[in-house]
Amino acid sequence: MSQAILLGVAQDGGVPHAGCQCLTCIRARKEPDERRLVVSLALVDDHRAWLIDATPDFPTQLQALLDASLALSGILLTHAHIGHYAGLIHLGREVMNARRLPVYASPRMAAFLRNNAPWSGLVEERNIDLVEITPRVEFALTPALRVTPVPIPHRGEYSDTMAYFVRGAKRRLFYCPDIDGWDEFDLAGMVSRADVALLDGAFFDATELPGRDIRDIPHPLVPDTVSRLGHLTADVRFIHLNHTNPLLHPGPQLDWLHQQGFDIGRFGERWEL
Ligand SMILES: [Zn+2]
Ligand SMILES: [Zn+2]
Repeated sequence: MSQAILLGVAQDGGVPHAGCQCLTCIRARKEPDERRLVVSLALVDDHRAWLIDATPDFPTQLQALLDASLALSGILLTHAHIGHYAGLIHLGREVMNARRLPVYASPRMAAFLRNNAPWSGLVEERNIDLVEITPRVEFALTPALRVTPVPIPHRGEYSDTMAYFVRGAKRRLFYCPDIDGWDEFDLAGMVSRADVALLDGAFFDATELPGRDIRDIPHPLVPDTVSRLGHLTADVRFIHLNHTNPLLHPGPQLDWLHQQGFDIGRFGERWEL
């Protein structure tokens, strides 16, 4: 049976955020239940698992797979921002010394890893085998797990950005943790083809970042995303939540989200695919 398991819901810096003294982060340092790992999704078939993104919380997320008797069989990368690939560092000789773990990446992302230390060392030492994927071309992890990389508009200093559309025998899932905005992307069209959609919900509203103009925030706001999807029936979860996002806690914003028929993701949540 193939399935997807959500192994984190936070934006790149996690919760608590390094050095942050906001109430959310102070509380998360005291209460383990209030911590949020950086967003990552496991795709599972039988006893094998593939992680979408290698986050700074990779050691904890790998252990969650091992505790479920799942063997890490590869990693699919979305892009070269720290929350999404920095965990690869644990595959090197100083830590796991992995042997030829397949790492799926766009040609530009693969070139970035190949040409920049310390990532280039993982390639040279054969800790990882880069597998170049082609945007919009489906490939099979197993006969029951087929994946299509979907190009996404997102600031690209070092790499382009892929979302992933996953096709299982029973259900389809769209995974898009990071995007600048939906204006240049057919969100409704994509989500209408999916049964489950996990979407960038970094910020709820512009007041979360005092002094910043809303146009400078390079993510869609959750109410904007909801307004584009209200007529669709897919199971939608918001992920990649910034530590400032009020949806991390019970309150009027989360109540509103539930009334619209949406929810945030939770660690350990599973969907049969
Ligand atoms: Zn991110
Ligand atoms: Zn990013």
